[in-house]
Amino acid sequence: MRNKISNSRQHKAIYDSLNNFQNSSKGVNVKTKCTGILQRYPPSVYIGLLCASLIVIMSLTLFAISYSQAYEVNIEGKPIAVVENTAAVEKAVMQAELQVKEILGKEYNMEKSIDINARMVKRDQIVQSDELAAALIDQVETVEQSYILKIDGEIIAANDSKTAIEAVLEDLKVQYTNDATVEADFTKDIEITYDYVSAQSEKDISTITDILSANMEDGATYTAVKGDTYSQIASNHGMKLSELMSLNPQASLDRLMVGDILNIKKEVPFLPVKTVDKVSYTEDVDSPVKYIDDSSLYIGDSKIVMQGTKGEASIQALITKVNGMEESKAILQNTSITEPTATVVAKGIAPRPKTASYGTYLWPVSGTVTSGTGNRYLFGTTNYHSGLDIAAPYGTTVKASDGGKVTFSGWKGDYGNLVIITHDNGTQTYYAHNSSLLVSKGEKVYQGQAIAKVGSTGRTTGNHSHFEVRVDGSIKNPYSYLV
Ligand SMILES: [Zn+2]
Repeated sequence: MRNKISNSRQHKAIYDSLNNFQNSSKGVNVKTKCTGILQRYPPSVYIGLLCASLIVIMSLTLFAISYSQAYEVNIEGKPIAVVENTAAVEKAVMQAELQVKEILGKEYNMEKSIDINARMVKRDQIVQSDELAAALIDQVETVEQSYILKIDGEIIAANDSKTAIEAVLEDLKVQYTNDATVEADFTKDIEITYDYVSAQSEKDISTITDILSANMEDGATYTAVKGDTYSQIASNHGMKLSELMSLNPQASLDRLMVGDILNIKKEVPFLPVKTVDKVSYTEDVDSPVKYIDDSSLYIGDSKIVMQGTKGEASIQALITKVNGMEESKAILQNTSITEPTATVVAKGIAPRPKTASYGTYLWPVSGTVTSGTGNRYLFGTTNYHSGLDIAAPYGTTVKASDGGKVTFSGWKGDYGNLVIITHDNGTQTYYAHNSSLLVSKGEKVYQGQAIAKVGSTGRTTGNHSHFEVRVDGSIKNPYSYLV
């Protein structure tokens, strides 16, 4: 109603001014009817009237050009903008509500009372609907204008000082830089804009620092290696054993195998920093290997004929790191300081006979070791035990631990029925207490070949295979040789 009343008042004012304009024009233009008057007054009076009329015409024209009817928008009685028509007000309210909804992430309705008054205003005071929308948003207490820090498009924080936000970011970067750093960047997209934001946004600088330097937990896996235990793996990754087990419901505490893949926690900084360092260092250069054929060696065997020496090189490289952890390296310059010399390796080309030694030793029988190498008490006295006793049922096949030549096969005192194999490198293996012998002295045997049957001949307490390893005639612990 107020709108309409004001509107008609404005119209009346314009109407009145137009009427005045017409009335005054009559007095000037209708010259013939005024001849009597012309005779009564001196010419200066008419010139004056003419001038006055011209001033009025000019003023009205100027008014019509500069002024226009428009709508003043008031919020809570306070004028905030003037627009051309009421449709612009509706459009602006919708636009403002939509924008505030986006900022706050929830529906928003302009609750403040908006009054519109029609009036004549100077044309240049009239604004467009988007400008009115901005003025409306300025009236919303839960929204404010500020510098906004966005990371990967997400609003993280706001502050009145752009410099303060930039300083926090710079401090984060500096942690990972040194004199050699030529580049430092965040791995996420950083944007600082000046815009509307929720008044609830985090503004405290030290809290913003905490947010940006906080660690996020990320899923990662760990592959178990020899010697690992669940508790060690947990502690190495900053976890409790119970946490590790709950992340791995498939895992059983009493069983951990090499190669098992476990889920672990990995801390990833919220805002990772990628740096590039330009570094110089010296590096060993491996001796290149030169192979030569050797007919005195079996295929698959090789030996070093001449050991080369390592060289040294001066390296200039760009090292890319993420949070201080090296990701990649690009060599810029590699200058030799000292050249390496070649290592010459003879490579066997002679066909390998089946009975040739591999230099690896297999278990002659499989079974429980009842006695190891060392002092032991047997038959009422303590004496030195020269090998392994491997329990096995009577008649079990005893196999050659490696290929070689049988250098003894027969009865030998406490050993009972004994086989000795001399291998290509001179190492000897003994197989004692056999019930029967399957090979004879001088025979060549291959690795795994049946050479005897388990028994308890000689000085024994039961069926087993006594196995010995001798290198250059001296007794060795077979455990160091068996694979
Ligand atoms: Zn024994």
